[in-house]
Amino acid sequence: MEIYKLSAVEIANRIKKGELSAEEVTQHFLKRCQVLNPKLNALITISENAIEEAKKIDKKDKSSLPLAGVPILLKDMFCTKGIKTTAASKILKDFIPPYDSTVTKKLKEAGGIILGKCNQDEFAMGSSNETSFFGATKNPWNLNYVPGGSSGGSAASVAARMAPLSIGTDTGGSIRQPANFCGVFGIKPTYGRISRYGIVAFASSFDQAGPISMRVQDSALALEILCGKDPLDSTTTSLTVPSFSKNLTHRKLRIGKIKSFFNEKISPEIMDKINEAIKKLEAQGHSLVEIEIEHLELAVDTYYLLAMSEASSNLSRYDGVRYGYRADFRGNPPSNLEEFYSRTRSEGFGEEVKRRIALGTYSLSSGYYEAYYLQAAKVRRLIQESFQRALTQVDVLISPVTTTTAFQLGEKLDDPLAMYFNDVFTTCVNLAGLPAASLPIGFDSKGLPIGLQIIGDFFQEEKILSFAHDLEEEFKCYMEEPDVI
Ligand code: GLN
Repeated sequence: MEIYKLSAVEIANRIKKGELSAEEVTQHFLKRCQVLNPKLNALITISENAIEEAKKIDKKDKSSLPLAGVPILLKDMFCTKGIKTTAASKILKDFIPPYDSTVTKKLKEAGGIILGKCNQDEFAMGSSNETSFFGATKNPWNLNYVPGGSSGGSAASVAARMAPLSIGTDTGGSIRQPANFCGVFGIKPTYGRISRYGIVAFASSFDQAGPISMRVQDSALALEILCGKDPLDSTTTSLTVPSFSKNLTHRKLRIGKIKSFFNEKISPEIMDKINEAIKKLEAQGHSLVEIEIEHLELAVDTYYLLAMSEASSNLSRYDGVRYGYRADFRGNPPSNLEEFYSRTRSEGFGEEVKRRIALGTYSLSSGYYEAYYLQAAKVRRLIQESFQRALTQVDVLISPVTTTTAFQLGEKLDDPLAMYFNDVFTTCVNLAGLPAASLPIGFDSKGLPIGLQIIGDFFQEEKILSFAHDLEEEFKCYMEEPDVI
């Protein structure tokens, strides 16, 4: 069997048994990255020392390395020591971090090989990957379509088998929505499960890392490695991390269908597929109820208001003084500090990022703070509470991930509100801090993937994973390969 068809778990096992070497696996995937990236633009950087790292793994005792020799692509939000980390922004285009994020460090310690850095929306702000300074990533299932965002490069590269595993971030849907558009599995764990240390900050009270993979088991394994208390991020929890990848056993669950998310805006093909999934779930012995969750219609507005406010504050650090891009002042020096900042930031940030800094600053400014930011913070609490009520009645909730399958490149780029409303089913989860996944369950008549969103209670990733694992075997979407590869 071709190496690229193997799951991360299988690759690690074969390397441990000596049936494959980390070096040959890394060579294989590097080659795929080199051939496929010009078509997809899914990567910003391909690592130059991956082979060297693989050789080191080959020399080691691999018995305690769960990811021994597994090639991994990281979203360009994760600091990688010695490898450029750009957040897909001009302002960080040449930034080489002097340290690893906790996620990077843990993956390396587990024997993973960092193959490269994935394209994304600039500072993870977007739903289509089109706001990247490095150009849009294309959807491997149809090159005229977006891969989703903001972790579009991660989802596209996994779908194209450029690596079995990628790590993305999800602030308002950025793992689930691109996973859904590219036909791969992606899970955002509970806020606080994975350390944010060394991840470029967008909206700190929402940002959470998570894996994207072809197979559910691979994400389960990655989660097991990445979750856990980190003294460098005080929001991480010290709760024990279950052996997610070993606990994918079938269990009968009570499933709640979020009533208001099954509406006339959902494309009929998505609706049909989800109904098919529901039938299969019932046949597996799960029970299903419809469930009403209040205030969800306020989620998108609330999320964007709060996320923009946090972003405006987080991004104030890019001033061109300490690091990052600085405007070229030769022959035209700034007349004061303010001009120094404003010229640097006007040139360094893209349109979407500037829009968010402006709107976020506005909602935090005196006189408006109470009317906007504070109000949104209260609505956030209401949404959290209604989820809590619903999750006392069921184990997991299901819904579509988006109303349609992937849209065309350029289709929504000039209409920010249309772009924001892409996140109508995903942002509520981040407001509540809950874990949620997107599992591929089929394709529409255009050959574009369809996913199912599965939401769990706090720290109940295990239920989501076992449920997804059950359903994965019913649909076997991982058997399908896009033509481009
Ligand atoms: N699409 C959402 C936004 O633009 C979510 C992004 C994300 O999760 N990083 O804010």
